[in-house]
Amino acid sequence: MKKTILAMSAAALLMTGCGGSEAEAPAPKKAIAPAEHAEAAHHEKHWNYEENGPAHWDEFSKTCGTGHTQSPINIIPGKSVEMNHQYDLSMHEDVHTSASVIDNGHSIKVTPKTGGEITLHGEKFKLLQFHFHGKSEHTVDGKRYDMVVHMVHQNPKTKQLAVVAVFFKEGKADPILDKVINNVGGEIEVDPQDLLPKDTAHYYHYIGSLTTPPCSENVQWYLLKEPVEASKEQIEAFRKYYVDNERPVQELYDRHVESN
Ligand SMILES: [Zn+2]
Repeated sequence: MKKTILAMSAAALLMTGCGGSEAEAPAPKKAIAPAEHAEAAHHEKHWNYEENGPAHWDEFSKTCGTGHTQSPINIIPGKSVEMNHQYDLSMHEDVHTSASVIDNGHSIKVTPKTGGEITLHGEKFKLLQFHFHGKSEHTVDGKRYDMVVHMVHQNPKTKQLAVVAVFFKEGKADPILDKVINNVGGEIEVDPQDLLPKDTAHYYHYIGSLTTPPCSENVQWYLLKEPVEASKEQIEAFRKYYVDNERPVQELYDRHVESN
């Protein structure tokens, strides 16, 4: 991370809608300007990817240290098991909407006014937000992709989260990434469907956690197998904001990774 370390906002925590900061949970404000934000939390200790990095996150939420279903993980394709159809994913993200783009101190986060949704076993999960990491957090056979977008969804009834990860590899320019990078602190028009690869029918699935404090568990993860592309310039432009905002991979313990 190259930017000044910013404090975590209620908004950042609230990406999750579950768990959250007991200590400072003011009524969620709109995007808080980073300067104001840093000032407000001047004296408090906050998690980050540097001196208060992943090895210290249990000081912010115990689950980060003791949880046995944490994310990200390394995926070993040869060790995955056949997909349980109960977890089949169907995606309906084709909604043209305006969206706010903020730098929340840990990532660049895009919050659409009207989200699309995914369906798992008849249950709908609404798209809350999507955000980017300067390298992928999950690895496949130990390999990190050049970037990743995490599309965070929530079941409005049960509050369970489901995150769809789309990997980026270096190649041609991505249509959404330029808009995002060029409008941090502003608004964009976006169709989240444009983040997806052609093939959304093949993925890895497992049950994990948020990859940032509070590291809440029981998150349904879907990692699409087909990556999308971003140009070298776009990857570099994003990494001017964040390059090392990824948590190391966590123990699998007795979990299985499913694949189709
Ligand atoms: Zn993420």
